[in-house]
Amino acid sequence: MARGGEYILDIIVCIKAVPETNDLKINSQSNTVVREGTKSVINPFDVYAVEEGLRIREREGGTVSVVSMGILSSEAILRETIAMGADKAILLNDRCFGGSDTLATAYILSRAIKKINKFDLIICGRQSIDGDTSQVGPELAEKLNIPHITCVSKIEKISRDSIVCRRLTEDGYEIIDVSLPALITVTKGINEPRTPRIKDKLKAKNVPIRILNAEDIHADINYCGLKGSPTKVIKTFTPFYQNKCEIIYGTLEEKAKELVNKLLARDALSEFRDIFEEQDNSGYNIQRFGSPMFPIHIESKGPQIIGYDSNLKNEYRGIWIFGEQKNNTLSSITFELLGTGRRLADKLGVPLCAVIFGEDIEELAHVLAQNSADKVYMVDHPSLKHYIDELHTDVFVQLIRKHKPEIVLIGATTYGRSLAPRIASRLNTGLTADCTDLDIDLEKRLLLQTRPAFGGNLIATIICPEARPQISTVRPNAIKEKIASRIPTGRVIRENVTIPKYLRSKIVETVSNETEIVNLIQAEIIVSVGRGIGCPENIPVIENLAKILNGAIGATRAVVDLGWIDYSHQIGQTGKTVVPKIYIACGISGAIQHITGMSTSNIIIAINNDPNAPIFKVADYGVIANLMDFIPVLTSELANKIENYTKK
Ligand SMILES: Cc1cc2nc3c(=O)[nH]c(=O)nc-3n(C[C@H](O)[C@H](O)[C@H](O)COP(=O)(O)OP(=O)(O)OC[C@H]3O[C@@H](n4cnc5c(N)ncnc54)[C@H](O)[C@@H]3O)c2cc1C
Repeated sequence: MARGGEYILDIIVCIKAVPETNDLKINSQSNTVVREGTKSVINPFDVYAVEEGLRIREREGGTVSVVSMGILSSEAILRETIAMGADKAILLNDRCFGGSDTLATAYILSRAIKKINKFDLIICGRQSIDGDTSQVGPELAEKLNIPHITCVSKIEKISRDSIVCRRLTEDGYEIIDVSLPALITVTKGINEPRTPRIKDKLKAKNVPIRILNAEDIHADINYCGLKGSPTKVIKTFTPFYQNKCEIIYGTLEEKAKELVNKLLARDALSEFRDIFEEQDNSGYNIQRFGSPMFPIHIESKGPQIIGYDSNLKNEYRGIWIFGEQKNNTLSSITFELLGTGRRLADKLGVPLCAVIFGEDIEELAHVLAQNSADKVYMVDHPSLKHYIDELHTDVFVQLIRKHKPEIVLIGATTYGRSLAPRIASRLNTGLTADCTDLDIDLEKRLLLQTRPAFGGNLIATIICPEARPQISTVRPNAIKEKIASRIPTGRVIRENVTIPKYLRSKIVETVSNETEIVNLIQAEIIVSVGRGIGCPENIPVIENLAKILNGAIGATRAVVDLGWIDYSHQIGQTGKTVVPKIYIACGISGAIQHITGMSTSNIIIAINNDPNAPIFKVADYGVIANLMDFIPVLTSELANKIENYTKK
């Protein structure tokens, strides 16, 4: 325990054991992860959380206690944190904890933390690389009734009463001030974790690890494990990557021409046209792009949630989407949700409603009403000018309790992935993160939520059989449904809600990164750079290509770790997950951790001088060339073609 700073802070770090991705084995019969013999490691984001806790303690004094819920062998990862310098390690282990979803996990952790008693700050990793939900942190904060900040890339200031953090957003960052006690989730780049010395590793072997079971932490077993989990996985399957790569041969000019012609033939450059159809007087028009990735069948019954009156669920009707806006501009995910919500509402025969919060947003509410929403619930208030987790949760929950929707869809954006778990935790209902497909089982009146897990190695279909509403966050760009303006337009309803007078969170500053050409998550085209670029001075070649395509720039971890580009560009397991229309991988080998973040892109183009690079296994088109020779040729070919194409 170190002392010396102005304040003494007691910090709790929550960590999870995850299977090592390079070692992941899937049982092809049962479509489950083979745990036996698979090496477990500390979830990579949690290592940053431990390091940050230790750094605060070293500056300010205090204690760092590390908590993990898991099987007995998770002791090994707790010992690693002791070797790094943690003061205490606690393992939550009980047979009844098995099969917990994120809500049940948050409940168990909250019981344990209440038992530990005094804490000032809880630090979690941004997400786990197996479940990849980002939900446990905000759900835990809600269970403990403390404020939280997700995606923290820097702690600006910490005092006895408050913490000021930099939170990464899609287009920059925000500085947020919250009062302590609080919970933060940290992202890669916040620090460089230390490597424990051999001496400390040996010492850690003999340190006792405290093991607590359900009784020790006074946990109600009805809220633990499978029994206490409102969501249930009903089907898992492995994604099928067909080795479909078409290698393009010829001189550099011939390759560039051929590639551009192929993209034009597939209408892949159509984003240069208006994405919305002309107004259709006959009413609304929904057109799905493609069918669900895989057929979906219900294979087993969901669990009965003890203490939940399933008759109540019949009171919940209708589908809601969250109209996310920033600076009074609707985000593109909002239109995607309107398209998906409309399809699901029509299938169920219920109205589609949108909710929108902000200041002076009446115009935006009418845009939602003109684009598929039957009703728009609007809360227009100066306090809602900026997105604040606590406040938005409060307002959203008041509306849900009043109107009782059966399904709520929220974008899987930085805000959405912070807001949805807080709402789900307050309502004790199920939440499925980052869905890439949604459908309805009409017979059972259930939302079928499909999403990747284990870094995309498995796809799972999840239901929430009893608790209501069923809440999903939806991956941007993943479910493309065209919407058209509709006549008659929906109704805008001004809602009066109670706005809390005192808030524990405050937005100090919002910064948009103007050097970014386009927001990476929502970009239609991404040009991504790997170590094959050779040196940072060559990156403008990639930028020129991205510029001509109005695309965003992605990167591999190798390039980020070399300091050639900022972490906000990193794509993959410990970076962002993207689903653009076109992904151009330049000098990228195709490691599984990178593929995880981009493999569901519509069209993948790989440019690499090694014909055996694994990236060609997931690419649609491959060009074997030195990228520094080929990319300028491709850029000028595209410039010519796009000019002609958009003139038509
Ligand atoms: C826990 C963990 C998490 C990770 N998370 C991520 C993540 O989120 N994202 C991520 O990207 N990685 C991640 N990694 C790292 C990942 O394993 C790879 O090391 C990384 O993706 C490799 O980056 P790269 O393809 O740029 O570099 P390399 O593997 O070095 O590949 C460079 C490629 O460039 C090609 N090349 C070289 N010169 C040229 C040229 N002149 N013209 C054309 N091609 C050329 C080479 O043939 C090679 O294929 C993670 C690793 C771990 C262990």
